[in-house]
Amino acid sequence: MNIIIVGAGIGGLTLALCLLRHGLKVTVYERTHTLAEVGAGIQIGPNGAKVFEALGLLHELELVAFKPQAAEMRMGDDTGRVIFSLALGAQSQARYHAPYLAVHRADLQRILVQAIQHQAPDVIKLGYELKDLSQQDQRVTLTFTNEESITADIVIGADGVRSAVRKLLFNIEDGQFSGMAAWRMTVPSSRLPKNFVPPKATVWVGKDQHAVTYYVRGGQLVNLVGVVKQAHWPYDDWTCQGSKQDILQAYQDWHPIIKTVLEAGDDTEYYQWALRDLPPLEYWYKDHVCLLGDACHPMLPFMAQGAVMAIEDAWVLAQQLKATPNQPQRAFEHYQKLRKPRASKVQATSKRNGRLYHQHSGAGQLLFYSPLWLVSRVSPDFFAQQLDWLFAEDVTKY
Ligand SMILES: Cc1cc2nc3c(=O)[nH]c(=O)nc-3n(C[C@H](O)[C@H](O)[C@H](O)COP(=O)(O)OP(=O)(O)OC[C@H]3O[C@@H](n4cnc5c(N)ncnc54)[C@H](O)[C@@H]3O)c2cc1C
Repeated sequence: MNIIIVGAGIGGLTLALCLLRHGLKVTVYERTHTLAEVGAGIQIGPNGAKVFEALGLLHELELVAFKPQAAEMRMGDDTGRVIFSLALGAQSQARYHAPYLAVHRADLQRILVQAIQHQAPDVIKLGYELKDLSQQDQRVTLTFTNEESITADIVIGADGVRSAVRKLLFNIEDGQFSGMAAWRMTVPSSRLPKNFVPPKATVWVGKDQHAVTYYVRGGQLVNLVGVVKQAHWPYDDWTCQGSKQDILQAYQDWHPIIKTVLEAGDDTEYYQWALRDLPPLEYWYKDHVCLLGDACHPMLPFMAQGAVMAIEDAWVLAQQLKATPNQPQRAFEHYQKLRKPRASKVQATSKRNGRLYHQHSGAGQLLFYSPLWLVSRVSPDFFAQQLDWLFAEDVTKY
């Protein structure tokens, strides 16, 4: 059986590694010519760390990660008041038997590529952008923009939020612009006063916008995400270089930690992403082609779980293909049944968090944040309990 994965992002690479470990034949086709440093920081919750532990990569990942002591929500204004805090660090290990990690996406991608190449050096083909797909007689033919055509028994679309495979399979477009844009940047910690940024994953909330800070690469870099309201997305590109002036202006009245980190970046270090939203798909597969990760459940990034869901998908899909290698539709059906309810719940929770973070008025902030503040003082375990369904899951035990 010959399996093709379209897209060498986090989901596609994790799937390739899982399939290789089951002894299955796989090739990954990626449109870019190099796997470059894009995307800045990614938080990997304990549910994702468990997959890397099962793949034997957790130690390597921990070497380039940062382990935030807590996840907290704070006011983005001068007060920086803590609304609530959820202990991570040692508590994540004790409660979920796995760490909570913050990594640079490029580090994670490099570790996955090296693990794949260690097993099979020729699996990843760069410079292949899918443009067409057809299915006939239980075979799938893919055509790329370089005019090469390749056939396979099974194709997995792991080609991200603007998936060409999804469009060719179901004629479903990219999804609606959510009215929000995300700024992403990393700044060397050495450019900031020592221990200036708290060693936590912090969501700073303000009027109609929020920001997130955490360290990656063992504390060498500070990652900042700023999410702002934007009427429309005027660019052709999905991500584009933004201007430092624009983001400084958007956060001019914010807490000194946010302003100082933003000021410390070089002019070339500010990237802007359109945030798009797509309701859950009815089907994740058709005949011999199936979707994974953002291609089938793109989500707003307000649970920090998009990549983790792609990683969980990869483990589960590989297990199903191993169990019924000659009946891909059966494998896909089981995979969809196991994964869709959970991924859809994370999609919906992410959307809800966006509304919580972006209160328009002081009255709204008081109404929504005061109960959170109170609960965190009266019942400190409350927030951990709310997240057990997400973090306690271990797909490697399926
Ligand atoms: C601001 C922001 C913050 C985020 N923070 C987090 C976080 O903290 N934790 C978390 O888990 N997630 C986070 N996410 C989400 C996460 O980045 C995505 O969910 C994740 O990258 C999805 O992985 P994927 O493999 O499905 O797709 P991608 O990583 O997007 O990979 C898709 C790959 O397919 C390739 N490709 C695309 N089209 C084609 C084509 N036609 N032919 C061939 N190849 C193609 C692309 O070049 C790319 O390499 C965040 C997202 C944003 C925007």
